[in-house]
Amino acid sequence: MLAKTGIPTPDDLSSKLPSEERLQQGPVAIVECFTPIPCDPCYHSCPFKAFQVFQDINDLPVLDFTKCTGCGACIAHCPGLAIFVVDYTYQPDRGLIKIPYEFLPLPVAGTEVITLNRSGEEIGQGSVVRVQNPLSFDKTAVVWVAVPLTEVMAVRHIKVGVGPDER
Ligand code: SF4
Ligand code: SF4
Repeated sequence: MLAKTGIPTPDDLSSKLPSEERLQQGPVAIVECFTPIPCDPCYHSCPFKAFQVFQDINDLPVLDFTKCTGCGACIAHCPGLAIFVVDYTYQPDRGLIKIPYEFLPLPVAGTEVITLNRSGEEIGQGSVVRVQNPLSFDKTAVVWVAVPLTEVMAVRHIKVGVGPDER
């Protein structure tokens, strides 16, 4: 399915996820990169050296979850928009996801957005907490979205500017 549609299955994802214990310890990156291509900005952009050294530029990235702080510095540097940060400790009933976002208009903090899964299907609603868009991100913004805890691992994109009354 992944090769045909680009949508990972739960099996594909299982090798990319940290342990439940690590998830409960705070923010951590999820690197949803599945196809070997000559690409390594994730490795070079991490200030904590949390990615294993690439032996070959075609290697798939391997993240050491014990070194990852969830800072999100790698997100905007990934040309494949394949890196997300999830935080199950954000609030008692809501988690936080940091999502790469290259559409306009950019949301602002406080915006309510429609949340979408990896297939582009609507899941529910989320609240934008922060938008990072410095020049160094080269037009890939990072949008922080709070969602119900049960949706943290499913939400991977947002739809902005479409309120519930306008759908
Ligand atoms: S979130 Fe921060 S610490 Fe984790 S891999 Fe990305 S840049 Fe490194
Ligand atoms: S920068 Fe992104 S697309 Fe490139 S290897 Fe790293 S995770 Fe994969």
